[in-house]
Amino acid sequence: MRTSTLSTALIGFSLVAGGSALSMGLASLGARPGPQSPARQVGVVGPDGRGDPRGCIFDERLASYAAGWPFDLCDCPYPPACDDPINRDAAIPTPATPMKVVRIRVVVFANDDGSDPTSVLGEVEDQIAVLNADFAQHRFYFQHTVDFINSTAARIGAIPATVFAENPGVQCNVYVVATNGSSATGPWESQALADEGGVLMSEDHFASDLHVLTHEMGHTLGLWHTFHGSQLNIACGVGPCHDCSESVGAANTDLVGDHCSDTPPMLAGGFATCTSPTGIDPCSGRPWGAMPENYMDYAGALLPGCDMLFTPQQSGRMHCWSADELSAWFSAPGDLNGDGFVNIADPIFLKDYLFGGGAAPNPLCRGDVNGDGGIDIADMIYLLNYLFSQGPAPTDGC
Ligand SMILES: [Zn+2]
Repeated sequence: MRTSTLSTALIGFSLVAGGSALSMGLASLGARPGPQSPARQVGVVGPDGRGDPRGCIFDERLASYAAGWPFDLCDCPYPPACDDPINRDAAIPTPATPMKVVRIRVVVFANDDGSDPTSVLGEVEDQIAVLNADFAQHRFYFQHTVDFINSTAARIGAIPATVFAENPGVQCNVYVVATNGSSATGPWESQALADEGGVLMSEDHFASDLHVLTHEMGHTLGLWHTFHGSQLNIACGVGPCHDCSESVGAANTDLVGDHCSDTPPMLAGGFATCTSPTGIDPCSGRPWGAMPENYMDYAGALLPGCDMLFTPQQSGRMHCWSADELSAWFSAPGDLNGDGFVNIADPIFLKDYLFGGGAAPNPLCRGDVNGDGGIDIADMIYLLNYLFSQGPAPTDGC
């Protein structure tokens, strides 16, 4: 339950200013992440100047893994495909893009005796509704389940909430805890589909007038903060105004910082208002850009009413990264009950919905497996034909 003031929330949130504190804290420093999608490797500078052979693309991630990397921090041999602006832009969705339906499992903790739960069912439903509203135009839908677990130690962070991970290979675990910070694992991290991954939500941030879950899900699907690589520049250990910095007006803003040129470089977040920060970018001498209403800034996520957008390039990054790394979380057309399989249980689920007062397909549009715009007995027959008579595959419906 939300118990503290916004200022407390801001302090708590600033604890994860580096982006993915949860996974970075749990990462083995000796492990070297494998190459990402080698079939689409980029990383050489072409005649058009794209690509960056020295990397700095991974910057904070590289720093966190530095001990295990046999490379200079600025030597990044495997720039991930989805950091290539061409791949990113090719993935920008349109209104006709089929929804990616992502399975998530929300875990609410209470004390051992069941007292002081970090949330209640109604609040979870409200928060998921906000999440789905925020992502609808970006063609993501989150199909959720909720578990309530009594564990004082996990509730207060004395043991990792991730001890209670369940099937992280097919769903994103989201833990609501009574600690200050919220954080998420990026799709490029080796823990993304492992028990140690997932989203950690402070109960102070888990509230339907805030968009912190939207922010953390943005990280989960492949976004950095909009101020990444500007003021918060630890890239390559050389401080600000390095080639790796994202600087106002620079030509390389697609390749550094948050890897989106449609989000202006800006001061690190934590604004008390939803107005543009003042001040000068020390690297360019120009006024900071600003997009405080972006979900991936702190103001956009933390100030009610200042919470309006992902940019097209951010949307493209999320589609590219999730398709490359997280597709095991996607629910398939025809999987009406959301159990990860398309089988006889799905037409039965639809029958119960249509004629027995059972639960609705989630999302509802998924029930339209024959794509005729309605949900009725014809869909049930269509699904049975697919399963048992070599009929055509279910359509997406959404
Ligand atoms: Zn963040």
